[in-house]
Amino acid sequence: TTPFLSVRDLYVRFATEDGTVKAVDGLSFELERGRTLGIVGESGSGKSVTNLAVLGLHDPRTTEIEGEILLDGQELTGAPESALEKVRGHKAAMIFQDSLTALSPYYTVGRQIAEPFRKHTGATRREARLRAVEMLKRVGIPNPALRVDDYPHQFSGGMRQRAMIAMALVCDPQLLIADEPTTALDVTVQAQILDLLKDLQQQTGSAIILITHDLGVVAHTVDELLVMYAGRAVERGTVREVLGAPRHPYTWGLLGSMPRLTSDVEEPLSPIPGAPPSLLAPPPGCPFHPRCASVAAVGGDRCRTERPELPAGRGAACHLTPERQRAIFAGQIKPR
Ligand code: SF4
Ligand code: MG
Repeated sequence: TTPFLSVRDLYVRFATEDGTVKAVDGLSFELERGRTLGIVGESGSGKSVTNLAVLGLHDPRTTEIEGEILLDGQELTGAPESALEKVRGHKAAMIFQDSLTALSPYYTVGRQIAEPFRKHTGATRREARLRAVEMLKRVGIPNPALRVDDYPHQFSGGMRQRAMIAMALVCDPQLLIADEPTTALDVTVQAQILDLLKDLQQQTGSAIILITHDLGVVAHTVDELLVMYAGRAVERGTVREVLGAPRHPYTWGLLGSMPRLTSDVEEPLSPIPGAPPSLLAPPPGCPFHPRCASVAAVGGDRCRTERPELPAGRGAACHLTPERQRAIFAGQIKPR
């Protein structure tokens, strides 16, 4: 059977003044209904670009998209704008990081939730307003029948994020893409919003993609994890596998630079040295090699000349054997 969402050999390239940016460089993944996939990586790793491609939100004049994006059996790459518009809101919806830019200051919260519902279902104004109240209630806004007429500035940051989730969910999308949905919020509200997404998923059975640079956010929220670097997936597995026994040296670095939100004492961060490569001219071989401490453990020139592929299923795109990956991560052998 075909998975609910299947992305195969996706390439996204931007034409810029300086040349072609390979923002996504051969990415494949799958997602089933009722499951949550976390996509993690530093900014510029291609996380957001991938998901904007799934929703057909790139400007076709400057963006070249290649590959296959199958959502519930429908091919989205190269689909006409009219078809993509139907998919957005109805089948798939997105929650953004910044509710202030996603919500218009000029319209009431209720109207902004009701409008897409009216547009996609042909409901009357009255029906759509009732639906907006119901949605505000579902996302945990107190006194929804009163708050429906508030403007976004009358809501707190956490409430605005809830309202944005209500707006995204109003047409019962089967795929929800949340791009750094809690980054702007304090830790307590973050946890509440993530719990809310999980609750709503249990009620609706929707698939969720959670995009984040923060591994702390994914631990309790996602089922599977895809780690991205320089437009490619470098590690894949269940969240337990990837966080418990990470295999790719880049993932080790991400874990090392993860702030420990659970402890009272703030532990020092050890960020990954260096910076992500230019996507105008990515390095040859393994794109991570300029920053990787394990090049010598592979030996020879392999990391600098030969690009490692991500195996199907659990694994990492790295020339180290799984045994050596385990041993280096466990500190049993030194990377060099
Ligand atoms: Fe590091 Fe080489 Fe593995 Fe790339 S292939 S992550 S450079 S050890
Ligand atoms: Mg982003």
